[in-house]
Formats: sequence, C-alpha cells, structure tokens
Amino acid sequence: MLQTGLARGLAENAGLPLFPVAFLVVGGLILARYLVVAGIALGLVTLFRKPLATRRIQAAPFTAVQLRREFLWSLSSIGLFGLAVAGMLLLRDGGPTLKLYPDIGAFGLWWFWLSIPAGIVFHDFYFYWAHRFMHLPGVFERVHRVHHLSTNPSPLAAFAFHPIEALIELGGILLFATLFPVHPIALALIGFYSLLSNVLGHLGYELFPQGFIRSPALNWINTSTSHNQHHRSINYNFGLYSLIWDRIFGTLHPNYETLFNRVTSHHATREGGALNPLEPAQPPHLTACSSPDQTHFS
Ligand SMILES: [Zn+2]
Ligand SMILES: [Zn+2]
Repeated sequence: MLQTGLARGLAENAGLPLFPVAFLVVGGLILARYLVVAGIALGLVTLFRKPLATRRIQAAPFTAVQLRREFLWSLSSIGLFGLAVAGMLLLRDGGPTLKLYPDIGAFGLWWFWLSIPAGIVFHDFYFYWAHRFMHLPGVFERVHRVHHLSTNPSPLAAFAFHPIEALIELGGILLFATLFPVHPIALALIGFYSLLSNVLGHLGYELFPQGFIRSPALNWINTSTSHNQHHRSINYNFGLYSLIWDRIFGTLHPNYETLFNRVTSHHATREGGALNPLEPAQPPHLTACSSPDQTHFS
C-alpha cells in the first residue's frame, strides 16, 4: 500500500521505528487535505462575503476565538485519525481484522466502484445513529458539546470533535473496512467525500440553488442549511451525507425547507436567512438537550 510502503521506505532509510513514521506520513496527508479543503472554503466565503451575503444562513459572523477553537480541536482529531489509520494500515499487513486488499482487481472492478457508494451509505447510517447517541443527556455534555460550542460553525469546524467523538466518527469507516473488502483508494475516496461533506455542512452559506430541495433526485442530499440549522436547533437534522434517515425517523427540522427557501431566495436579507430562526418546539419522541444558544457556552 502506498502509505505503508512510503513509511517503510522512510523508516528503513532513516533507521527509525515504523509506527511513528507511518503516523507522520498518514497524519500529514490527512492534515494537508484538511488544510487545503477547509482553508480554501473559508478563504472563498471570506473573499466573496459581499456577493454571498444573501446566501448567509446566520447573521452572526465567524469570530477569531471561534476559528482558533475549531482549528485546534480539528488538529486534535487529525492527530487521532493519524494514529488510528497508521495503526490500521500496519495491522493490515499482518492482521486479520481489516479487509483491505492491495490488488484493485481482486474483487472485480465493479466492486471497487460499488464499494465507494456502499461505504458512504454505510457510514451515513452509522453516523446518524452515532450522532443521535451523542445527543443523549450525559453523553452530550461529556463528548459532543465540544462540536456544538459553535452555534454558527465555520468550515474549520469540519473535524472539531472531542477525542471520543473523533474515534466514534472514524469507527464507522473502520467498521466498514472490517466487514467488507475495501481497496485503500476506495477508502481514501470515502474519507475525502466525508471531509467535503463536513466542510460543506459547516460552510455557513447555502450554495445549492433554490430548486434543489424540490427535486426528488436531489432533496435527499444534506445541505449547508440543514447542518447549520442543527447547530442552532440541536434535536433535529442529525444526518451527515444525506437527509434520508432524518426523513425516515422523523428528525428533519419541520422548518428546514422554509429556511432553505428563505436563504436561497433572491429576497433574502443581507442579515442572512436566519433573521427569524424558525425554532419550533422539540419533538416529543426525543430526549431534549439544552440548546447551546441557551446555555452560554464560551
Ligand atoms: Zn457540525
Ligand atoms: Zn450534534
């Protein structure tokens, strides 16, 4: 495998132990990917904030304190991802648990291509329930609160997780690679799609066109509006890549489509689509957690 091969070569040439070198190679690649994708997203929405003003979901600006906090928590998660993935790759060389295969044709090219959407659907379902679990009282305060410190998150919040949440998030992808044979490139593409979705969910601006949610072919895809709304109204919109599970299990915000239409409307105000936050009562079938907006997280 590319990363382990590179790590082995570097470790042998430098006379260093394999695991720390593998961690630096893998962690470095994950960090570079985050810096490029989240950095470009933040740069673009900052640069084009005036033409995008009517697409802003919440009026509150990103603050320096918020950006620093989101970046540092994301660095912590990336460090853990690097440790876990480096360990996984080294285990793969002699371990029975992960079904990574080096020959791209070993299970047919059809499976290589199918494994990517299959992994995304698997992770989407896993994440939905893991996310619901992390909103349970007792778990939320200890684990998921870190991610909800930002009620109007920026793209830098893509990996802003408590270490336990970072491992829970990564666990879904590792579980998929344990249950099904996956080529490392397919796994890397699933991880990249996950990063793109996380950055999009925390963009702070809605870029999809107004007709997006009226299209049955598209309205199951998660949007920036949906996840931003989750940061304000925390008992709704738990999905990662899709809104399928929110629709099936009744956790889609009742005013999601109204807010989306408002943000994407040409008549949206410069103050953003959430002038009226459109917050309904919590659904009775969920155990309510107090909203960060009401609990004065600092
Ligand atoms: Zn979030
Ligand atoms: Zn949440």
